[in-house]
Parts: sequence; structure tokens; C-alpha cells
Amino acid sequence: MNLSVRTKMLPFEKAFEIVLNSARLIGTEHVALDHAISRVLAEDVKSDIDMPPFNKSAMDGFACRRVDLANELTIIETVPAGVPPENVIGPNQCAKIMTGAMVPAGADCVIMVEFTKNPSGNTVRFTGKETDGNICLKAEDIKAGDVVLSKGTLIKPQHISTLAAVGCANPCVAVRPKVGILATGSELVVPAEKPRTSQVRDSNSFLLAAQTQTTGAITKNYGIAKDTRQAIDAAIKMAIAENDVVLVSGGVSVGDFDFVPDILKKNGIELMFEKIAIKPGKPTVFGVSDGIFCFGMPGHPVSGFVMCELLVKPFLYRLMGHNFKPLEMKMPLGTSISRKKAGRPSWIPIAITGEGTARPVEYHGSAHFHALCGADGLLCIPKGTAEFKEGTIVPVRRI
Ligand code: AMP
Ligand code: MG
Repeated sequence: MNLSVRTKMLPFEKAFEIVLNSARLIGTEHVALDHAISRVLAEDVKSDIDMPPFNKSAMDGFACRRVDLANELTIIETVPAGVPPENVIGPNQCAKIMTGAMVPAGADCVIMVEFTKNPSGNTVRFTGKETDGNICLKAEDIKAGDVVLSKGTLIKPQHISTLAAVGCANPCVAVRPKVGILATGSELVVPAEKPRTSQVRDSNSFLLAAQTQTTGAITKNYGIAKDTRQAIDAAIKMAIAENDVVLVSGGVSVGDFDFVPDILKKNGIELMFEKIAIKPGKPTVFGVSDGIFCFGMPGHPVSGFVMCELLVKPFLYRLMGHNFKPLEMKMPLGTSISRKKAGRPSWIPIAITGEGTARPVEYHGSAHFHALCGADGLLCIPKGTAEFKEGTIVPVRRI
């Protein structure tokens, strides 16, 4: 990557393209269905059977011929679920049938037990005006050989049931990336400690671990490295050795002790960019070396959060072969918003009200991480836009 691309402030779209294009699938493995939730399918899955596999009754009732509905019907057998019927339904005949049982040949509808009366014990009469078929037809949902789920699908509970139903008991899924996270800053103390004057608690390493875990990544928190070249170098070396992806929080800006980009380079990481034209999150660094990907994340907590949502999480999904599409909802803005500088796209935290409007939460800037706790989403004010009037329809990206 030439020096000018690396050091200049890239438009977010360009940075996103560089990051996502460098992702490669780490590997695949088979997992049992009970452990397949939130994994990414690494193969197309086909059904080995028709679904339903036979004409199946949707109700408890009587299977009969629609032309005979006005007549008294003779019950010729009872068909429970799991047992094939023995007879063909002829004129003025019916079979008592249970939900999920196989509809006998000859029948073209099932009348619900609620709409029948039973005059003599072995006959039945339909008391309704008309009836639905109440038959789930063989193969109407899925045909044997159909691809039911495609490679790259992020497995949700509804996909688990489909996998089970088509006999995919050990789906082939992408290996989960290992993500090492470390926080840099001589001012940082662990959460269990009370910060003394001029100290702050490390919240970023926990935040980034939690965010990346939502993608299924396996995280390891390397804790705090003081702002010395030796401490940061040692921590980065260890994280690089043990992971596929390394997130380094802080130390990526232009302060005297912001050593991270330099130390990444000294460890053989080729930096692809060091700044993004975005607010918050300008000092975001991305670099690669053989099979290892490093992000230098801005130290300000909201900046780190936003960049992890916009850049790191889509990248981790791509490492698993999944094309992540954030949930974005369009809704009217509940109040006008304006800003002085419009040179960069700017993301702000938004609450979604009960009336379905987007309302900016109280937000003091990128250090104000607590503002995110009252937010349901993020809104981007595009480059060149200084004001959104109340009522403007805006896209809110759910967080
Ligand atoms: P830096 O990017 O290292 O210059 O840090 C920018 C701001 O973010 C400073 O106010 C830091 O104290 C704060 N900060 C950096 N790292 C963390 C962290 N791990 N947890 C919470 N705040 C942090
Ligand atoms: Mg720092």
C-alpha cells in the first residue's frame, strides 16, 4: 500500500472496502445442531426429503371427499399420527384422523371435529357451511433436493429447525475467529480498582470483547498495557501470536505516547490506513500480515464502539463467510438536529420512541459512553449535511 493512501484520511466507504476485501475464511468444521446457533453455514444445505413428506392432516377431524360433505359419512378407520392409513376413502366414507397423520387416498379434505356431529357412533355429519382443505400437501413447502439454506447464512433458531427437518445433524460451519483485545494507556486501571486522580477505568477492552462476541468470535482480553513502547510491543506480540484478529484500543492518535501504529509496523504488520474521515472514529488503523489482521481502535469509548459496529463486526462476519447487513429502519426524526462542521459523516446515538420516531439522546461527545446505554441505534448525518429538520425521514441503524 503506498504511503499516501496509508496516511491520508480515507472516506469510510474506501476503508470499509479495504477491510472487507482482505478477509479470508479461516477454516470450516462440523458442529452438532445443539451448538450451531449463531454460527455461519459453510455449505449449501439441501433437503433429503419432501416437506411435508406425505399429505398430512392439519387438524383433528375426519378425512373425506368434498362432494360428500352434505351426507352422513361412515367412519371406516381411525388414523393416528405415525401410522399409515389402511383404506381408500370411497363415496360417503371418512376416516377419523389426528393432526399430523397421513391423509388416506381418496380424501380431498379434512373436516374439523368441532364442525361435526356424531349421530350413531360410527357415522358422522358435517355441521359447517364450508371447509378449508385442512391438508398440508406433500412437498408443498420443500422438494427433495431443494437448497433450503445457502452457504454464508448466519444460523438463527429458525434455521436450526430447518436443518433438523432436512436431516442436517452436523452442519459444516465457518471456524470462529480468535480475537485478542488489549487496552493501551498509562491512565487505565482495571474495573475492580478505584481510579486515583488522573486515572480512568479500562472499559474499552470489555466493550470491544462484548461487541465482537456478538458475532460469535472467541475473544481473549490481554488487559492493560502502559504507554511505553516495551509494554505495548510485548502485549501486541503475544496477541498476534495467539489470534486471528487483534484489536488494540487507544494510542493510535497523534499524542506523544501514541505508539501503536509504529509498533504494529515493527511487528511486520502492513498498515493499510491510519485515519478515516468519520466522526467519531477518525484515528482508526487497519493492518495485515500473513493471516493476521490488526485494528488500532480509537481510545475514546464511543469512537471505539462506533468503529467496531461499522467496521470490525462486518469484517469478523466476512471472515466467517457471512455478508453482514445491519438492520436499518427509516423513521421520522422527533426533533431537529444541527451541527457546526459538516466535513465528515457523523454518527450520533438515537433512541427510538414508542411513537416510532428517532430522538437523539443527550450526548456530550465521544468520551460520553454512558449515552449509548439509552440508545437503540445510530444515525449518520452525511458529509455536507449540517441540519436535519424535525420530521425528516432518517435511517436508524440498530445497535
Ligand atoms: P487515546 O486514543 O489513547 O488518546 O485515548 C483517548 C481517550 O480515551 C482518553 O481520554 C483515554 O483516557 C480514553 N481511553 C483510552 N483507552 C481507554 C479505555 N481502555 N477505557 C476507557 N477509556 C479509555
Ligand atoms: Mg492513550
